[in-house]
Amino acid sequence: MKDKEVELLIKKELIREEIYLDLIPSENYASQDVLDASGSVFTNKYAEGYPKKRYYPGVEVVDELEELCIERAKKVFNCNFANVQALSGSTANLAIYLALLRPGDRIVSMNLNHGGHLSHGAHVSVTGKFYNIFHYGVDEKTEMIDYDKVKEICLITKPKLIVAGASNYSRKINWKKFKAIADLVGAYLVADISHISALVVTNLHPNPFPYADVVMTTMQKQIRGARGAIILSNNEEIAKKIDNAVFPGIQGGPQENIIAGKAVTLFEVMQPFFKTYCKNMLANNKALCDEFIKAGYHVISGGTDNHLFCVDVFSKVKYTSDIVEKWLQDAHILANKNTIPFEKNSPRTPSGIRMGSPAGTTRGLKVEDFQNIGKWMVKIINSKGDEKVINEIKVKVLELLKKHPIYKDKISNFDPFEIDSLNEYDAKK
Ligand SMILES: *Cc1c(COP(=O)(O)O)cnc(C)c1O
Repeated sequence: MKDKEVELLIKKELIREEIYLDLIPSENYASQDVLDASGSVFTNKYAEGYPKKRYYPGVEVVDELEELCIERAKKVFNCNFANVQALSGSTANLAIYLALLRPGDRIVSMNLNHGGHLSHGAHVSVTGKFYNIFHYGVDEKTEMIDYDKVKEICLITKPKLIVAGASNYSRKINWKKFKAIADLVGAYLVADISHISALVVTNLHPNPFPYADVVMTTMQKQIRGARGAIILSNNEEIAKKIDNAVFPGIQGGPQENIIAGKAVTLFEVMQPFFKTYCKNMLANNKALCDEFIKAGYHVISGGTDNHLFCVDVFSKVKYTSDIVEKWLQDAHILANKNTIPFEKNSPRTPSGIRMGSPAGTTRGLKVEDFQNIGKWMVKIINSKGDEKVINEIKVKVLELLKKHPIYKDKISNFDPFEIDSLNEYDAKK
């Protein structure tokens, strides 16, 4: 690369990824093929519109590519329509609302503190400013979705659209119950499966079809692909409205390079190894979660059925999770601070720490590894950030990661573990 500054930053990020244990449940490692497709010459082509209905000439190849991606999405998710142009999960959600609602219409969705997402109508998001939002949450005792309460809220507020799906919810979502409520009040049901789409396509979590009117997933999280989203449906009329909402409603030219990355992602999903990855991810996450339960920590909802969980560290050690996040990062373990249901602290200094197994599983870590990781994390948190403990565990984390490189080929001519910290990298270059 001629630009040495960016070249060095790419290398620095590669090193960072190799030498940190990533337990952030929304993150993952895309394959080299996905990276190659995403950075391909398709980035050069303008193709506003949809296959066979473009506003530019020279689109014969991008048409083939986008049609291939759409066909794969339909096959993998078992549905009739797919829009693969959404640039991100947040814009995809906005496009869905734009397609089905008018400004000021009512939406019922999950409370952010209880595990929902900003783009489900948080007041700081455009979705919260354009639409009239009412939230459901989890039951105070079970910390699981209270479907009777969802029904009660919907009967009172009469929403035109209900969003089911979350970013921090460790239990299975009952689509059938959501559909019954949606039918009762005459609302559209949108399933946002961004966090669980890999489990859905491998039948390890119930499929929101045929219950949901629209299904949306990001592609960069559990499903381990290119950064962006896809929107799915079985209803032709809804599908047309969604296409119009994505373009020209919100976006201009699609990122055909990213669509190439999404197509490769879907190819990988269809391979036998993908189901193995998903099964391992579930077993690994359960092993990690069990270590916290054994150590007497309160895990939200008492456990996990999927790839993530959230631990209330504040109730146990009286330190907020922004501080715990830092202790763990010093030991090269990344898990993010998060609010918990009925949070009593502030969002910047909350009580919960959220973690999961997708990235670690992709890099090849097994159940025994996750058991050890759980024990190490508990030791650090129980010690209240004792420096000696942190340093001792950091050595073990680095030893483990060194045995499980993410991008073997990229690091074949240097050792990312040669340096002890990213500051040292800056000093060297
Ligand atoms: C991550 C996420 C999104 C938003 O995706 P971005 O690509 O970050 O905009 C939307 N919904 C849910 C449930 C998510 O977890």
